Amino acid sequence: MLSEFDLIKQYFVQDYAQNSPQDSRFALGIGDDCALLNPSQGMQLAISSDMLVSGRHFFPDADPYLLGHKCLAVNLSDLAAMGAKPLAFTLALSLPEANRDWLAAFSQGLLGLAKTHQCRLIGGDTTKGPLNICITILGELPPAAALRRDAAQVGDDIWISGTLGDARLALAAYWKELDLDETSHQQAAIRMHQPTPRVALGIALRGIAHAALDISDGLIGDLGHILAASKVGASLYVDELPAGSILQTQSTKLRREFTLAGGDDYELCFTAPVAQRDAVMQASKISNTRVTRIGNIDSEPGLRLLDQNKQPLDLHLKSFDHFTSP
Ligand code: ADP
Ligand code: MG
Repeated sequence: MLSEFDLIKQYFVQDYAQNSPQDSRFALGIGDDCALLNPSQGMQLAISSDMLVSGRHFFPDADPYLLGHKCLAVNLSDLAAMGAKPLAFTLALSLPEANRDWLAAFSQGLLGLAKTHQCRLIGGDTTKGPLNICITILGELPPAAALRRDAAQVGDDIWISGTLGDARLALAAYWKELDLDETSHQQAAIRMHQPTPRVALGIALRGIAHAALDISDGLIGDLGHILAASKVGASLYVDELPAGSILQTQSTKLRREFTLAGGDDYELCFTAPVAQRDAVMQASKISNTRVTRIGNIDSEPGLRLLDQNKQPLDLHLKSFDHFTSP
């Protein structure tokens, strides 16, 4: 039998923390009542939590390695959307049983991505119960550098990183809403299970972008948060939205629907002044992340969806909401 403390020690106390060069920001890690951190001189802390619940955010039999990756990826994505550099995270874990194979795979997925982003696990809580994973992440950024939702300005371009819709397409295939061949389904499913947090892009956009957020519930719903917070409106060029490689092979109707309202993509949507177009392309280059210009911020309230002839489209789409969606 694996005790609570053995479990923590065996699977969550990172070897790389011990083996990595001394970092004076980490005064005390796992093992005491609290961890102790010294944030870098003059930097602000960015803090965010995301909870993943079995049966709600993932299937109960989900691959534990992918789950470990995903639950940290979605938290890193929040830091990226703020322009913050990852620093550390805590892990609150509720588990039905202490299964060694599950824990080994989960911690590998989790700590592998943590290592990639130099983001250290500094504490948490472990309890028996329904599978539920909650991470709180900490990042650093210079004061006033954060890419906030309330900072969009009339005249800004709207941009999106990467591609949209393949995660939703994979889900549609699971739900048998449509047929996908096995290879396409597997490829699309990678976007659902292993989102790539756009951390380097977020940092590169400091001082260039105005507002930003990450797309977790669908572009139109999430962009709506920027519009509401910034008290502006927007026009989106629906047929210029970059569809995922598998979604590209589907009908126009499906492409429009899943790029606009599909969730789980974890791409960054941001606004930037027209005068910063070259700077945005430079940020894209140094972070090795594709970006596409997809619309404009304007003063007329609301969101207008336009086709390739700049004609309005009436699509009646809805973003995902945990309390109003099925
Ligand atoms: P407390 O009794 O104060 O809640 P615990 O006994 O739960 O402390 O935890 C002991 C130590 O292990 C603490 O430093 C805590 O932060 C850490 N810890 C507990 N669970 C985890 C976990 N899943 N991942 C990382 N650290 C953990
Ligand atoms: Mg505890």
